Amino acid sequence: MSPIPIFNNNYSYRKPFRTFRRASPLPMDRLKASIRQKALSLGFCAAGFAAVRPQDVAMERMRSMIAEARHGEMHYLEAGIAEREDPTRLLPGVRTVLSVALPGPAPSFRYGESGIFSAHATVQDYHRVARGLLLELLDFIRAATGIPVEGIACVDGAPVLEKAWAESAGIGMSGKNTLIIVPDAGSVVFLGELLLAIDIEPDQPMEWDPCGTCSACLDACPTGALTAPGKLDARRCISYLTIELKREFTTEEAAMATPWIFGCDRCMAACPHNAARSAAAHPAFTPSPEIMALTAEKVLTLTGSGFRKLFAGTTVMRLGLKRLKRNARAVKRERTTGTSRTSGTTM
Ligand code: SF4
Ligand code: SF4
Repeated sequence: MSPIPIFNNNYSYRKPFRTFRRASPLPMDRLKASIRQKALSLGFCAAGFAAVRPQDVAMERMRSMIAEARHGEMHYLEAGIAEREDPTRLLPGVRTVLSVALPGPAPSFRYGESGIFSAHATVQDYHRVARGLLLELLDFIRAATGIPVEGIACVDGAPVLEKAWAESAGIGMSGKNTLIIVPDAGSVVFLGELLLAIDIEPDQPMEWDPCGTCSACLDACPTGALTAPGKLDARRCISYLTIELKREFTTEEAAMATPWIFGCDRCMAACPHNAARSAAAHPAFTPSPEIMALTAEKVLTLTGSGFRKLFAGTTVMRLGLKRLKRNARAVKRERTTGTSRTSGTTM
């Protein structure tokens, strides 16, 4: 849902939550249809299957990003490169990647005010919601096959090439905004994967260019973080600056980040696929009016207990109050001083 994965927080993805012997191949026609149907009934808007194979193009893109330092200070991307290249490091015997998309809340449109939260900050933490649904789906697969299929649920942040697997599994295609675009749901989706030690007949990738001549996301990006179609410089991306960056901002970074306090929805809001989407947000993603109404000034008055009460169960808890206030200070300061975007001074 954002060009930047939110936190490499492990989420138990390294370990199968149960350990079973390897399953045998099964007749797949009815099984596949019933798994997909179950995924849709759980609230996913798309589900597809990919056979485990090398993802050379995606790995090359990832290596280029790291070589060009476009990943900024997300060092976990370097650390997880071997797992991304070889999913058997996560789950020995993995044969299939079941890729799913969960529809998220509409992008935030409240621009030009004293602090904005990305829509996904105003709802329940999507990692927990999507992972819970994936584990339910895994239980269903075990019941449907009658065998104890080994599996791991992955949601964002895990060292898995989630966009490449989504394309391979035929649930969407990458747009110029670097995100997977799912027909009828746009890029307002959270991706998740079940790594499965079972053979399931793979789906085919779509033959679809979702962008054509459109360049609305590149035009809308206020910092030039989308440096070319499908190419992101995270160091200029507001989602990276406000969520991933651990240290204090430089003056230039503070000026780029403002007026966003957490995340950024500009490229998402500009995309015609998102404006026209028919998939409704999963019921777990009802925005909190209290968070939506927050301003930088209000954030700066929050106490620890006030922060926990307001953001309990959201992704903002992972950022912590200290960095949330860093972001709010930048917004407030930029509003009052119009800080230069070229200086490298630390705030
Ligand atoms: S609009 Fe630009 S800065 Fe904002 S999330 Fe998209 S790429 Fe990042
Ligand atoms: S805004 Fe246009 S170019 Fe960007 S991802 Fe959407 S359709 Fe593609």
